[in-house]
Amino acid sequence: MSDAENPFAPTEEALEAGRLLFRRPWTFQTSVATLDQLPQAERVEVAFAGRSNVGKSSLINALTGVKGLARTSNTPGRTQMLNFFHAPDSPVTLVDMPGYGYAQAPKSLVDAWTELVFTFLQGRARLRRVFMLIDSRHGIKDVDLKTMDLLDRAAVNYQIVLTKIDKIKPGAVERVAEESLARISKRPAAYPSLIRTSSDKMAGIADLRAEIHTLASW
Ligand code: GDP
Repeated sequence: MSDAENPFAPTEEALEAGRLLFRRPWTFQTSVATLDQLPQAERVEVAFAGRSNVGKSSLINALTGVKGLARTSNTPGRTQMLNFFHAPDSPVTLVDMPGYGYAQAPKSLVDAWTELVFTFLQGRARLRRVFMLIDSRHGIKDVDLKTMDLLDRAAVNYQIVLTKIDKIKPGAVERVAEESLARISKRPAAYPSLIRTSSDKMAGIADLRAEIHTLASW
């Protein structure tokens, strides 16, 4: 679908406002491993979730233009934490949710992840949206569906962001986009459009910035 036909395509104004929002110097605010450490939500929040290695850190770094702001998934110790990023005068805080779906994760770790994330989701009145990152080469996996179940239960709005689209052909991106939208069509809290991105090529980053600006200005 071209942008001209896409009712969800951002306007020029939103693209510009998104660009300005992310021209600020974004910095790391805090990491939280247990819910009693959660900072007060002083601003609107948007969060990022996805399987480990989906490209979440790369996407946050691309959005903010700060290399190394979000660490890569294999940084020990940070993986089970919620990481918060903010910028001066920004109306929105970014929340990096812990990656999930490690092949060898013991059940106790999965349970701890679920509890941390679900309690966070339920208690965060100013959380506007969770961006659910899906690797465009792999599409939605069962473990992603489990996270969507949590989001549906917590009634937190979520939107699919396809990552690494530079790794596959445009036709394959369209196929995975259509298939993904079909799979979420009956999910109550899912947003009915997705954003295609490549952090390597900066594709779709402007659209995601515009979307975050729009969410922050409700
Ligand atoms: P995380 O575990 O979800 O935080 O994933 P990372 O951001 O650490 O990325 C995992 C791997 O995918 C790294 O080797 C990245 O360089 C690579 N990667 C991330 N985004 C892209 C992208 O847009 N294009 C390509 N080609 N590789 C990417």
